[in-house]
Amino acid sequence: GLKGPKRTNMQITEIIEQARREGRTRFAFELLPPLKGDGTAGVFSAIDPLMEFGPAYINVTYHREDVKYVERGNGLLEKRIVRRRPGTVGISAAIMKRYGVEAVPHLICGGLSRYDIEDALIDLDFLGVNNVLALRGDNLRGEHSFAPHPQGHAHACDLVAQIADMNAGIFVDGEVQPCHHSRFCIGVAGYPEKHAESPNPESDMLYLKRKVDAGASYIVTQMSFDNARIFDFIRRCREAGITVPVIPGIKPLSTKAHLTVLPQVFHVDLPQELVAEASGCPDNAAVREVGVRWAVRQVRELREAGIPVVHFYTMGKTDNVVKIIREAL
Ligand code: FAD
Repeated sequence: GLKGPKRTNMQITEIIEQARREGRTRFAFELLPPLKGDGTAGVFSAIDPLMEFGPAYINVTYHREDVKYVERGNGLLEKRIVRRRPGTVGISAAIMKRYGVEAVPHLICGGLSRYDIEDALIDLDFLGVNNVLALRGDNLRGEHSFAPHPQGHAHACDLVAQIADMNAGIFVDGEVQPCHHSRFCIGVAGYPEKHAESPNPESDMLYLKRKVDAGASYIVTQMSFDNARIFDFIRRCREAGITVPVIPGIKPLSTKAHLTVLPQVFHVDLPQELVAEASGCPDNAAVREVGVRWAVRQVRELREAGIPVVHFYTMGKTDNVVKIIREAL
C-alpha cells in the first residue's frame, strides 16, 4: 500500500552516496511520459509495483517533436510536426508528489532554444525538482545529422553549462544579483560501447570528460547487455580522470525484434549467448523470460561489484523488471 508522501529533497549524488555507504545496490527506473491524450494512470500503474523495492529515483524521458507524413490523396505528402509525448516536467512533479520519490526529468538540446530550456528549468525549480539528466537528443526523423536549434545547444556539455550557470545565478540574459539560486544536480549520458557518431572510444571519452568538467555530477550509461563492457567503461572513465559515479543502464530483452532493433537504434551489441537463447524461443513470452534471466545475472554481478545504483530502461512496462529484481536480490 501507499503511505503518505515522503519528503523529497535529495540530490541524486546524495542518494548514490548513501547507497554506497550502506553497502547496498538500489534501483532507478526510467519511464516515458504519457502519450498525448493519455492521463497519468498508465505511468502510475507502471510505478506502483516497483514501490516494494523502494526506488532510488525515477527518470522521465524527454521527447522532442516528431515528423509525420500524411498522404494528401493527390500523390503528395504533407509534412506535419507532431509531439507525441509532452509533459516531462509535469509528470515528474506528479510522480514526486504521489510517491515521495525523487524524479529525474530528462532535458535535451534538440528542438529547444536556450530560453525554452531556461523556462523548463525555472518550472522545475519551482516544483521542487532538483535533479535533471542533460542530453543532446537525437536528430529529427529524416534529418541526416543532429541540427541544433538556432538559439540552442549543439552538444550536451553546453546544456550542462547552462544549468550549472543557472545554479550560479547566471541566466541566458546575464547575471541576476542577488537572486534565488537553483541547486540542480546534473547527470549525463555515457556510452560503454561508444556513441554512434564518435570516431573512436577515446574521442567519446574526451567529450564525456568535458560534460563532467562543465558541471555533471554523475553518469548514466547507455544500455549494455555485457557487464564486461560496463566494467571496462568505468575503468576507462577513471583513467581519463572522471571520478563521478557511473550508473549502469540495463534493458531487459523482451521481444525477438529487439535482436535487430536494439543494435540499430542504440548501437549496442548483443552477446551471442543471449542471441542464441532468444532466437531459439518459440514466442515472445519465452524471449521475455530469457531477457529476465539475463538481466538477473547482470544485476547480481553488478551488485557483487559494489555498484550502488542500477538504472532500468523500462519503456513503461515493469512486470519483467519486478521479476528481475525479486530474483536478483
Ligand atoms: P553529447 O554528449 O552531446 O554527445 C553526442 C556526440 O557528440 C558524441 O559522439 C560525442 O562524443 C560528441 N560530442 C560531445 N560533445 C562534443 C563537442 N563539444 N564537440 C564535438 N563533439 C562532441 N534522448 C532523448 O531524446 N530523450 C531522452 O530522454 C533520452 N534519454 C537518454 C538517457 C540515457 C541514459 C542515454 C544514455 C541516452 C538518452 N537519450 C535520450 C539519447 C541521447 O539523446 C542520444 O544518445 C544522443 O545521440 C546523444 O546524447 P548525449 O547527451 O550523449 O550527447
